[in-house]
Amino acid sequence: MKSFFNTSTAIASAALAVCGVFVSAQAADFPAKDKVITIVVPFAAGGPTDRVARDLAEAMRKPLGGISIVIDSAAGAGGSIGANKTAKAAPDGYTLLVHHIGMSTMPTLVRNIPFKVESDFEYLGMINEVPMTLIAKPGMPANNYKELSAWINDNKSKVNLGNAGVGSASHLCGLLFQNAIQVDMTTVPYKGTAPAMTDLIGGQIDLMCDQTTNTTSQIEAKKVKVYGVTTAKPLTTAVLKDVPTLAASGLKNFEVTVWHGMYAPKGTPADVLAKLNGALKIALKDPDFIKKQEGLGAVVVNDKRIEPAEHKKFVLAEIAKWSPIIKAAGVYAD
Ligand code: ASP
Repeated sequence: MKSFFNTSTAIASAALAVCGVFVSAQAADFPAKDKVITIVVPFAAGGPTDRVARDLAEAMRKPLGGISIVIDSAAGAGGSIGANKTAKAAPDGYTLLVHHIGMSTMPTLVRNIPFKVESDFEYLGMINEVPMTLIAKPGMPANNYKELSAWINDNKSKVNLGNAGVGSASHLCGLLFQNAIQVDMTTVPYKGTAPAMTDLIGGQIDLMCDQTTNTTSQIEAKKVKVYGVTTAKPLTTAVLKDVPTLAASGLKNFEVTVWHGMYAPKGTPADVLAKLNGALKIALKDPDFIKKQEGLGAVVVNDKRIEPAEHKKFVLAEIAKWSPIIKAAGVYAD
């Protein structure tokens, strides 16, 4: 028994030593020139989360020594498929996740997610904050929020409200909207708001809430109609500066700001995380990245929330903020 204990202890120590050497060697040459970093995007290609991930990938490439960064579109189930895929990926720094406010609302909105937001990820930092807009199909007869509200009351459950699946930002915004006006609409889930936008423009669905990074150009081109922004104050971008806030239109305290952040699987070595966070910080100061984001109404984070611990603190505070609001509105889903 004693000798078995000694032998197995020796084997275990040797294995740990090899592992330790492997991990630090891996961290020292991270990112390796012959490898590729994959950013998992949990919503459909062409949508707002995909767009910020692609712009960020471009801005992080140089600070990471010119390594290739590819996007893996793991869309579906309101963002939980991509988050789960990342949580279960090898913790080596080569698989990352860009997700949004859903990281903080999913735990309450969806009761059975197969991962833990609090403990299955390493937090790399926050990326940006993006307002949402309430938009409608181009043939919507209403010309302002008052007329839209009358049209919704005339059509009630016949109104089709698109979203990016249970747990997504558009789902949250749509549920809060229905709750605020006390009308149950028919919700139509998509794998992201890019395909939902196509159907909205085509008139197959009536309404949707979505980030300004996806809606600004469609509003400008008059392919969709806009009825309100979800921020406390009106926006300042040229296209949206005259759009009233939903709060000013009578939806008391109606405020939803989407934010995006970057994550790695739990257990990614600390020095790999430090390199990734360093590259993220450089990317967030990249003038091209800032210009692209700000032109579409987003604000690039430039405060302590770009630090991993501060971003995690922020996400936990968001969970605590949204949980009672979602529960009080009775809008959570199974
Ligand atoms: N805007 C989407 C949402 O509603 C996600 C996306 O397609 O990026 O959560």
